[in-house]
Amino acid sequence: MFAGFLKVVARCAACELDLSAADSADGPAVFVMFITGPVAVGLAIWMEIAFQPPMWLQLAILLPTVLVLSLMLLRPLKGLMIGLQYHHRAGEGGKNTFT
Ligand SMILES: [Zn+2]
Repeated sequence: MFAGFLKVVARCAACELDLSAADSADGPAVFVMFITGPVAVGLAIWMEIAFQPPMWLQLAILLPTVLVLSLMLLRPLKGLMIGLQYHHRAGEGGKNTFT
């Protein structure tokens, strides 16, 4: 259903469903933050309590972790969002986006 990393195709290759109006907006990003945020904070607290590593080492571990985790989660969560919108016939002002 994706044409690029996050660009959604206009029409499903398997079932011809019109995906041109499918728009998950910033929904996936919110859930990415809800997941990566606690993971990063938990990791930071655990590192600090267990090892007291220097700040540069914490940043060297946490920043790539957040980046990689975010990039790994964004695409599947966007797919999930659009799938849920389709399942629940969601749309602007109560109108179904998928007709
Ligand atoms: Zn399909």
